[in-house]
Amino acid sequence: MSTLKLATNALHAGHDVTANAGTRAVPIYQTTSYVFKNSDHAANLFSLQELGFIYTRLNNPTNQILQERLAAVEGGIGAVVFASGTSAISTGLLTLLKAGDHIVASSSLYGGTYNLLKVTLPRLGITTTFVDADNPDNFKHAVQDNTRAFFVESLGNPKLDVLDLEAIAVHSKAAGVPFIVDNTVASPVLLNPIKHGADIVIHSLTKYIGGQGTSLGGAIIDAGTFDWANGKFPEFTEPSAGYHGLVYHEALGAAAYTFKLILEGLRDFGGALSPFNAFQIIQGLETLPVRIKQHSENALELAKWLEQQDEVAWVNYPGLASSKYKALSDKYLPKGQSGVITFGAKGGYDAAKAIVDNSKLFSLLANIGDTKSLIIHPASTTHQQLTDAEQESTGTSKDLIRLSVGIEDIEDLKADLKEAFKAIK
Ligand SMILES: *Cc1c(COP(=O)(O)O)cnc(C)c1O
Repeated sequence: MSTLKLATNALHAGHDVTANAGTRAVPIYQTTSYVFKNSDHAANLFSLQELGFIYTRLNNPTNQILQERLAAVEGGIGAVVFASGTSAISTGLLTLLKAGDHIVASSSLYGGTYNLLKVTLPRLGITTTFVDADNPDNFKHAVQDNTRAFFVESLGNPKLDVLDLEAIAVHSKAAGVPFIVDNTVASPVLLNPIKHGADIVIHSLTKYIGGQGTSLGGAIIDAGTFDWANGKFPEFTEPSAGYHGLVYHEALGAAAYTFKLILEGLRDFGGALSPFNAFQIIQGLETLPVRIKQHSENALELAKWLEQQDEVAWVNYPGLASSKYKALSDKYLPKGQSGVITFGAKGGYDAAKAIVDNSKLFSLLANIGDTKSLIIHPASTTHQQLTDAEQESTGTSKDLIRLSVGIEDIEDLKADLKEAFKAIK
């Protein structure tokens, strides 16, 4: 494994310049398929006697560089990229679980993930118990005989709760199930969940890693630490009917899950990342360390400023002294707390909508992690379909505005919000 530091790996890992015509930039291999030398070579590739490229739904040289780079910056043994963060999450879970299995998840999750676990997976017989992650013991109490995974977000979107990963990892280990952490909001620069006990890390590359709001993508990084032979995962220890009798754990050891994601997950569900998007995301990853620092600095300053405004009822940002997550933030996010802030508009639902409608620099849209500042009112948009109780547990009250603070000049951002506040009746 690389001994280089994160910022260096973000620029160099995975790219051997001598192997690519000396191209300093990572080239885009825009191809669907790869010519086999002869039919023996083809047979060897399909039977894994030899590793190599077969078809871009499974792998691609540009995507491979992104994969190696993501594994390096998160400290995993391997990574697999997908068409979106959502594709990474659904394929990641479906490659692991079957009808009858159960997940214990934090209740404060990204809206799309919440719906997947709450509505769609139960249709396939995979159920989830949602717990308040503020008390790590809740995970232990929710474990059942059929529990096969813990799923959390290290920094919840949009509740911005900082999870005590090490305390939760104690319970996942005791239960013998993989601890899956969506690290999208924190980014690998601010937090590496694997160092705190995560077995599997997930990213929406669409957000801070891509960073420019141009391309969707997702990734799973495998720590290689989970013991698939503990008796709970026969799909890893018995011959796979889906891959001519391959016994994943025996043949691939620590890399069993990474390979299963490619050989069955990408093969069967097809959520491959376009090599063009991989190229765009690589450009983003190269500057992630400097961008996320500026996002974090701007967000902390803006959060402090918001706390002093008359139009603001409350401000939630883990770096604030007033945050109930300040101690966890000092432990898990000492280098910065990323760019997302939520705050409450005095005057509730209507005041929140008025602010969103009258800000000019903050774009009203459903994304985070762009270099440009973004704003949204979840109660009328992303979380509209949830009941009041669900809005409460996912941390989205009616007065809540979510900001994704960009890297513009901070004074311009303050002036823009000050102007928008005048619209409150
Ligand atoms: C956006 C997001 C996702 C989904 O990623 P897409 O790339 O939009 O599919 C998953 N988790 C978190 C925390 C997110 O913010």
